[in-house]
Amino acid sequence: MNPIKFSNALIIYFLFSLCACGQGTKGSNRKKMLMHNDSIEMEKEAYWKTKLSDEQYYVLREKGTEQPFTGALLLNNDSGIYKCSACGNPLFTSESKFDSHCGWPSFDKEIKGGKIITQTDNSLGVERTEIMCAHCGGHLGHLFNDGPTSTGMRYCVNSVSLEFVPEKKLSTPRLDTLTLGGGCFWCVEAIYENLKGVVSVESGYSGGIKMNPTYNEVCTGTTKHAEVVQIIFNTSETSLDEIFKVFFTVHDPTTLNQQGADRGTQYRSVIFYRNEAQKKAAQSIIEELERTNIYDKKIVTSIEPFNVFYKADISHQDYFANNKNEDYCQLVIQPKVDKFEALFKNRLKK
Ligand SMILES: [Zn+2]
Repeated sequence: MNPIKFSNALIIYFLFSLCACGQGTKGSNRKKMLMHNDSIEMEKEAYWKTKLSDEQYYVLREKGTEQPFTGALLLNNDSGIYKCSACGNPLFTSESKFDSHCGWPSFDKEIKGGKIITQTDNSLGVERTEIMCAHCGGHLGHLFNDGPTSTGMRYCVNSVSLEFVPEKKLSTPRLDTLTLGGGCFWCVEAIYENLKGVVSVESGYSGGIKMNPTYNEVCTGTTKHAEVVQIIFNTSETSLDEIFKVFFTVHDPTTLNQQGADRGTQYRSVIFYRNEAQKKAAQSIIEELERTNIYDKKIVTSIEPFNVFYKADISHQDYFANNKNEDYCQLVIQPKVDKFEALFKNRLKK
């Protein structure tokens, strides 16, 4: 069953539950309703059967208990978060885990915010407190008040009910910045704006000899600046490699100081590297392109150390988006955007 159908089933289930409580339906109507509830419950369990392993189903849905000292997370001491293995609800942090010697992963407190619900469990003839995931209702284990830490609590949890996510996978997005010149910055900016993982693109100037140059000064070619885009990207969603692939797809790296009708050093093909990793990645993709003869002429893209980026004035930012009907946008930029969108269609933001 797909998740949407499942959530609809749950909504219907809850609506019927409310009806049953509020109106005290009698006779055959009530019987029908109970049968309906049963069928929804069966549908829900069928969903979990497809989603969970046999062992997970036994513990999470049938309230089973894994054998002590067998769980994969019993001895795990790495930093990170423990989530419900059925639905991903975050339940415990590694700081709350301790060795209780009871045979199951133990925690002295849950992550705040009502992530866990409890109910009384008399199944073994003694009263215990069962703990369940508040999001999906999955059985986790039991809660005891004999914990050795200051909280006094011991959440005794089946390993199989938990999924551990190491801290390094939780870290905030890693951002990288790259500055590229591929001819008119209006074109290059328009393309990168729509690539998944790109956080921001700004048009500006790099690689020249004058501080704070104006657009008109750069256009003369005397300041030695290149028109560039400064791209900030999330390395967990895209990569230096992909940024370069797009770069070499959407401009011509074989024409010296020229892109189409745009001529001058300000239109040179250039990669401004900020560190050795960027320099090596740039060198290696150019070598690869040369080796495989992707172009019939030599690549003239220069690889230069990054020094400073001067942001162009506001009229040059988002130029294509703001001036789509202009001839230059229609004739020069749109075909490049179309080519990019066709080749990278699975990598577009929209
Ligand atoms: Zn859950």
